[in-house]
Amino acid sequence: MDEVDGNAIGGLLIDVFGTEMTVASSTCGTCGATRPVAELVVYRRAPGTVVRCRTCGSVLMVFVKAQGVTCVDVAGLASLGMPDDLTPYR
Ligand SMILES: [Zn+2]
Repeated sequence: MDEVDGNAIGGLLIDVFGTEMTVASSTCGTCGATRPVAELVVYRRAPGTVVRCRTCGSVLMVFVKAQGVTCVDVAGLASLGMPDDLTPYR
């Protein structure tokens, strides 16, 4: 299976979240590891994209594109947000 990192889905994340998310900070809901989205492990397989924790391997996010709509499951994340010093909105 082809493993890439979060940078590979930067464009997909912009489509879904409307902003650059590779610099966002993610927290794993299973092990609590916190790291930038760019450093997460990504598996791209049609029709979906699976994002896993680099520490424990838990599934953090799943993106499935169906009929032109991207469905997102972020149930594996404890949190996802911009680090304070990178917040583009202030
Ligand atoms: Zn984890």
